[in-house]
Amino acid sequence: MLYFVKSRPERKVVTMELKDGFGRKIEYLRISVTDRCDLRCSYCMPKGYRQFEEPEHWLNFGEIARLVNIFAGCGLKRVRLTGGEPLLRKNLPELARRISDTPGIEDLSLSTNATLLASQAKDLKEAGVDRLNISLDSLDRERIRRLTGRDVLERILQGIDAAREAGFSLIKINMVAISGANDFEIEEMVKFCMERGLVLRLIETMPMGETGRSQGFLDLQPVKNRLAEKYGLVPALMPGGGPARYLRTADGAFSLGFITPISQHFCETCNRVRLSVDGSLHLCLGQEDRFDFRQLLRGGASDEEILSALHVAISKKPERHEFREAPGKLVRFMSATGG
Ligand code: SAM
Ligand code: SF4
Repeated sequence: MLYFVKSRPERKVVTMELKDGFGRKIEYLRISVTDRCDLRCSYCMPKGYRQFEEPEHWLNFGEIARLVNIFAGCGLKRVRLTGGEPLLRKNLPELARRISDTPGIEDLSLSTNATLLASQAKDLKEAGVDRLNISLDSLDRERIRRLTGRDVLERILQGIDAAREAGFSLIKINMVAISGANDFEIEEMVKFCMERGLVLRLIETMPMGETGRSQGFLDLQPVKNRLAEKYGLVPALMPGGGPARYLRTADGAFSLGFITPISQHFCETCNRVRLSVDGSLHLCLGQEDRFDFRQLLRGGASDEEILSALHVAISKKPERHEFREAPGKLVRFMSATGG
């Protein structure tokens, strides 16, 4: 299968690249544009959760675009918009357009639960979003209601259809595989994605917050071996620069990714950091280390001062997460950081 990513303005001047203390080049930023969500996925946000960031603390589009531009000046190439649910943030296509037009940004993607995608897919595509990751953990209406807290399967499926119609050529379906909750649906999901030209990614639950720890963990290594044998899958590469390891069918028509932070961690090749809606730069998904950029942005710091803070922050990126050794360590939920 061929995927098309539009060509973008090149960056003429790139100052010193961002490298962390372990020699890893950081060229991927995930931006959480809101910590709010219309769903309450069992592994992500607790039911009734309302401790959200105050709106006056949300970075505005000008602040985000400025940070992205400074970051792109030292080698940032990929950006993903995420949340919470990013489509809840008003005028998101406007931000997408500003990021997509930033010289040096080669790839702009979006993670969404797709409940609001049907009405926004076209605008997002036109604004320069190249790729979509859509969360879908089941194809059963009642199971989706139980897993997400809302009866939204139909809307998600409409969102996926709208994204295909809008011309997104690379749509990845993210399925968090939970023992006893949806693991028996994996093969049905493989067929669903095969039939629609979607890439399927199976994800191991990460112990983030009490929600992440309360799920039935499923080791994806045996699942990978079983599916590889059944469908004759071979190793593959996929655009995205992320931690997933991919397999594909021999004819290349279907690709299957595995994100296995627990059974096989990928920290040595980590190339990313995460900006949360309050302007904190989280240096590792599985650690508390972070750097506050909101204060700098709102305190009159020059671009040079922000650039130098960026280098300091990145130099402090932890070597790896400890999801396996210290699963009780993180109290913050995935939705608060931006998954
Ligand atoms: N709301 C959007 C969505 O659901 O795609 C974007 C944000 S969501 C936090 C990003 C991804 O994180 C989703 O694919 C979700 O399934 C995944 N996720 C959330 N909590 C997780 C956990 N504890 N372990 C593994 N993946 C998790
Ligand atoms: Fe919301 Fe995404 Fe978290 Fe589900 S995984 S609760 S859709 S942020």
